[in-house]
Amino acid sequence: MDRSGLGLALAFAAAICLFTTGALAAQPPQPMPLPKAAPIPDPRDIAYPGELQVSVDATDLTHGIFSVRETIPTDGKPMVLTYPRWLPGAHNPSGQIDKFAGLIVHANGTRLEWKRDPADVYAFHIDPKGAKQIDIGFQFLSAVSTREGRVVMTPEMLNAQWISLALYPAGYFTRDIKVKPSIRLPQGWRYATALDTDHADGQWVTFRTTTFNTLADSPLIAGKYFKSIDLSPDGPAPVHLDVIADSPEQLEMKPEQIEAHRNLIKQAYMNFGSHHYDHYDFLLSLSDKMGGSGLEHHQSSEDGTSPKYFTDWDKGSAGRDLLAHEFTHSWDGKFRRGADLWTPTFNVPMRDSLLWVYEGQTQYWGYVLAARSGLISKQDALDAIAETAATYDHRVGREWKALIDTTNDPIVAQRRPQSWLTWQRSEDYYSEGQLIWLDVDTLIRERSGGKRSLSDFAKLFFGIYDGSFVTQTYVFDDVVKALNTIEPYDWAGFLHTRLEGHGPGAPLDGLQRGGYRLVYTDIQTPYAKSAEARRETTDFMYSLGFTVNREGQLSNVQWEGPAFKAGLTADTQLVAVNGLTYSGDLLKTAVKAAKGGADPIELLVKINNHYRTVRIDWHEGLKYPHLERTTKGAASLDAILEPLN
Ligand SMILES: [Zn+2]
Repeated sequence: MDRSGLGLALAFAAAICLFTTGALAAQPPQPMPLPKAAPIPDPRDIAYPGELQVSVDATDLTHGIFSVRETIPTDGKPMVLTYPRWLPGAHNPSGQIDKFAGLIVHANGTRLEWKRDPADVYAFHIDPKGAKQIDIGFQFLSAVSTREGRVVMTPEMLNAQWISLALYPAGYFTRDIKVKPSIRLPQGWRYATALDTDHADGQWVTFRTTTFNTLADSPLIAGKYFKSIDLSPDGPAPVHLDVIADSPEQLEMKPEQIEAHRNLIKQAYMNFGSHHYDHYDFLLSLSDKMGGSGLEHHQSSEDGTSPKYFTDWDKGSAGRDLLAHEFTHSWDGKFRRGADLWTPTFNVPMRDSLLWVYEGQTQYWGYVLAARSGLISKQDALDAIAETAATYDHRVGREWKALIDTTNDPIVAQRRPQSWLTWQRSEDYYSEGQLIWLDVDTLIRERSGGKRSLSDFAKLFFGIYDGSFVTQTYVFDDVVKALNTIEPYDWAGFLHTRLEGHGPGAPLDGLQRGGYRLVYTDIQTPYAKSAEARRETTDFMYSLGFTVNREGQLSNVQWEGPAFKAGLTADTQLVAVNGLTYSGDLLKTAVKAAKGGADPIELLVKINNHYRTVRIDWHEGLKYPHLERTTKGAASLDAILEPLN
């Protein structure tokens, strides 16, 4: 603006001021919140009168549709039905309401209109108008491709999760609602579930009356190709490995493979000194069509993994801690649960502050029990711990976000992809928790002169009420008290430091005390190679600071690492390395060649339709994590991985 216009502008501004001041008196009223919508009754710990019936037709394999009919006794007055929103195991509000469709309600043959609660999309208001029972029908629409979520029905198998297949009346604890479930399965298919079968009638299977709580916790698998193995012929309760697969040859297992799974049961009993189920079923699905899973339940687990689980056994053990992890949850997570995580219904918000016990210690026992039972070798277990130690030693987000805050991640991120994982952090209470429990185990061993260990804690904390599966809750102080009973120490201070501290680096004292240290060499361990193959990525995390997928796109870039500093982000496409078409092997060769030299590694990259050449000055070669022995003779980490007897 030139000087000539300035006076005019000032005058205009003054006029605006006057106008605004003058207008204040005539301002419209501020908006105010509306009163709450029709109330949804709070849950009470009293028996729901009568028994729900849930019948699921699971035979529409062509469309992946589960058709549900449900009868619900009522007192004739207006009621609210809810669809489970807060999912145990996911620890977040990810109930699949988007796949719930076709709701139609009848009473005495007359159609009743339902109305979705305006503030809670998981709640439906219904007025039975005096009828003593309502009949409802709806469908659960399985994702037909991974684009929409997890596929749970294929031409060869299905995974019926009752928690997605039933509505329940609001106002009652789910343990107080009785339900009789039944399911129609495709002709000739076999099934497994923790539910007790009452009778079968053609394709319909009816189960014994149970509580809504137990129903939601007792999914079912069924398949064209099915095998069931008794894993505990001499144990205190039946345990079965129930396997479904895409094709019959994937069910072929060798005696030593069965033996390793049987050892898992024995080793778990020796570790926990108890069991918390009438019978337990591993619901193992081997498929590249149905979505994978690892979901714990009190008397079963959904274990979905590679179709080559048995047939490519020797090609790698990455991920083979799955069953040990999920089985451990029967004790840690299902039987004993953080008091803030336990909720009376599936529509009351969960709070996840103790997941470093629930998932952290389970992650620890998962690897330890897998090694003790022979599901993975001791060397694989050590190599897996090396990967974990390196991953969390590079988790620079610790600087702003302490481990305890990552227990909010299931709710914060719900496992959506992240641009900057190492800075944002993601559910780190699992594997950093594992390192903390290694720290605890080795410290108990050291202080007690090898007389006691974390297994004694496991027996004391998880072993109570042997045979019962009534969940027992705990708070932070209960964990500290149990640790102090095993080995007196300032456990509260110890845990606070590790849960609330900011590093630097991962909690690696347990490694050192266990007789090992974390080192990096240019050789990848067989375990790391197997993990790479499983994830379909190539790992340059500790050299150039990224991992890259099979298509040459960066999948994870280390915050403030060499690639970050060169301006690279996730999804950057690698096009060429030093002028030659990119391949993972070529980049490895280039990193090796640049070691100790002066020339940078030159990458041609593509971001959207922009091509760019970046130079990364990295001269330390390839770096992969390993554990290196620091002591002669027996180290306590070696002892931890040995089978109990
Ligand atoms: Zn888990």
